[in-house]
Amino acid sequence: MDSAPDRAHRAELAQQCVKCGLCLPHCPTYGLAQMESESPRGRIALMAALAESPSLSGPFPHLDSCLGCQRCEAACPADVQYRTLLQLTRSAVPPALGLQERFMLWLLAHKPVLNSGLRLYRIVYSLLPRAWQILPKPDANGSDYSPDRADVAIFSGCVADVYEAGLRQHLLRLLNACGIQACIPAQQVCCGQAAAHAGKAQQARHLAATNRIVFIGYRKVLLLASGCSQALKESLGDSAQDAGDFLLSHSDALKFRSAGGLRVALHQPCTASDNGKSSAYLALLKRIPDLHIRLLPDRGCCGAAGLQQFSHAEQAAKLRQPILDAVAAESTDVLLSQNIGCRWHLANGSTVSVQHPLEFMAQFLHDT
Ligand code: SF4
Ligand code: SF4
Repeated sequence: MDSAPDRAHRAELAQQCVKCGLCLPHCPTYGLAQMESESPRGRIALMAALAESPSLSGPFPHLDSCLGCQRCEAACPADVQYRTLLQLTRSAVPPALGLQERFMLWLLAHKPVLNSGLRLYRIVYSLLPRAWQILPKPDANGSDYSPDRADVAIFSGCVADVYEAGLRQHLLRLLNACGIQACIPAQQVCCGQAAAHAGKAQQARHLAATNRIVFIGYRKVLLLASGCSQALKESLGDSAQDAGDFLLSHSDALKFRSAGGLRVALHQPCTASDNGKSSAYLALLKRIPDLHIRLLPDRGCCGAAGLQQFSHAEQAAKLRQPILDAVAAESTDVLLSQNIGCRWHLANGSTVSVQHPLEFMAQFLHDT
């Protein structure tokens, strides 16, 4: 229900925009289309119109194509709360979702079905036509082992529950090497970010409420995917922390073997906690001897943006290309990215191995 007070609140948020246009060069979709309607300023004008004239009816493809990357918000001198405005608007005027996206969102909210479906998907993967292989093949080692209880927990989320089981074991090894025990609570659910991005505010609130109950009493909840970071920090507060930041602050005891001259490139997701600088992972990687690290230059959002890599595949592929070009410009053995959605999308267009920085790091850990 789009109430008058809700519309007034959205109109007020939109009015903060002074239309200076300083955000435009930072917007990936404006960079591609060079059209005002594909810019933050154009979208804010549309969202203001939707708040003031509820009778306007969609579809609104220029609003739907927004990546939610928040690059505009970071560049805005008037402190326009673009993300809040976008989420409130999408909640009132939901984006046009295809059958596939609606099914994916339903799966994200029903984790037991999702996990069973992904395990089945792994078994039949090689029999499927290429067009149906929309997600990478999940690893075979899809089960978690952790202590029953500890005061530090690891967030496993939705799709990562199956896809990152191996990564969570690597994190546990790294934490153990620092003298820290962590556990992986079984009842946790999706962070809700994809639902919020798709205008499913009620679904996002329900998921956040479940996680708040599951994680009561934990000193820290460690996040491996930067895409979950903002939603989890909003629902769990200060206890939610990016795994890289936490590990760095406890890493005195970590010792690594030589990487033998390997060359890695570190991608900076828009959602990284330090505004895309991935500095904790960079600092940790620098502890590995004989490793050549290159921080990829910022070439804009990779286009993954939640489910948009599927719903706006053409736009997503165009946005990805400058990043892949930067990877190809220097010989790179492994591309590292801390966000699962970015890794899927980058791997889909590249022959270079794409890994989470902690997965890469753990193979050089000196356990003794
Ligand atoms: S969103 Fe901010 S930077 Fe962009 S046009 Fe409005 S005031 Fe200027
Ligand atoms: S969130 Fe990203 S894609 Fe959307 S308007 Fe802002 S900069 Fe552009």
